[in-house]
Amino acid sequence: MNISTLRSMPHLSASSIQSYNGCGLQYKFSRVEKVTREFTSDNLIFGSTIHQVLSDYNEEKLMGNTLSAQELMELFEHYWTANVNKTPDIRYSRGKNFDVLLQQGKEMIKTFISQVPKDEYEILAVEEPFRFNIDDIDIPIIGIMDLVERDEQNTIIISDYKTMSSSVTINEIDQNFQLSVYYLAAKKNGYANNDIVLKLDCLMKTKTPQFKQIYTHRSEEDEKRTIKIIKETWNGIQKEVFLPNAQGTWKCNYCEFANQCREYLLN
Ligand code: SF4
Repeated sequence: MNISTLRSMPHLSASSIQSYNGCGLQYKFSRVEKVTREFTSDNLIFGSTIHQVLSDYNEEKLMGNTLSAQELMELFEHYWTANVNKTPDIRYSRGKNFDVLLQQGKEMIKTFISQVPKDEYEILAVEEPFRFNIDDIDIPIIGIMDLVERDEQNTIIISDYKTMSSSVTINEIDQNFQLSVYYLAAKKNGYANNDIVLKLDCLMKTKTPQFKQIYTHRSEEDEKRTIKIIKETWNGIQKEVFLPNAQGTWKCNYCEFANQCREYLLN
């Protein structure tokens, strides 16, 4: 089943669960009431453009072709232009605009292609949709794995691409919820008898772009914790508990429903 079909049915995903736990009210606006966003963040469009380029890179690799740095940078320009043109409500962060991000994206892609190992593993799937079920939850958990590979020992390596502004710690990657969900998905979709390794491929939007691959594992305890978080989240959603983020963190500063939220909280 393709991802559009999966998304058209009731479901949970790593991002919906993280959204709920980051701010229940934001989850309610975006996913329950489907309120129109006040703007679309440049980070969102930029990140998905990088994703499209890396997906094409891996699709070509799967067919035995290696795209050059020049071809990948041209692809970035093509997708970036198309994505921005179809997003009239894009809001640029301070100091950013179309051209600044075009240049930055090309530099990041150049860094990626110069540093990514070329033939380390055998590619099994690119942008692989998945679904799985958990006891006591009557809707599936769905998602897409960016890249699924296998090494000579038959270990499965699942990679997620992340575009980020600063470095992440090993601890954050060991706790990364999205990777934990991919681990569960892999176990429930044919890889239960393989060793599974998770990898975050980080493209950093620093002044000089950086590319890092960071590996992590999940234990039985991590598995249980992830299932518990999914169940508790579903429980909260079903009971319509949508608490606002009370921390006043960066999440509120960049929130695409800030006006809606203000109105809601003052009435
Ligand atoms: S402004 Fe903050 S509290 Fe309000 S919906 Fe957005 S993230 Fe949640």
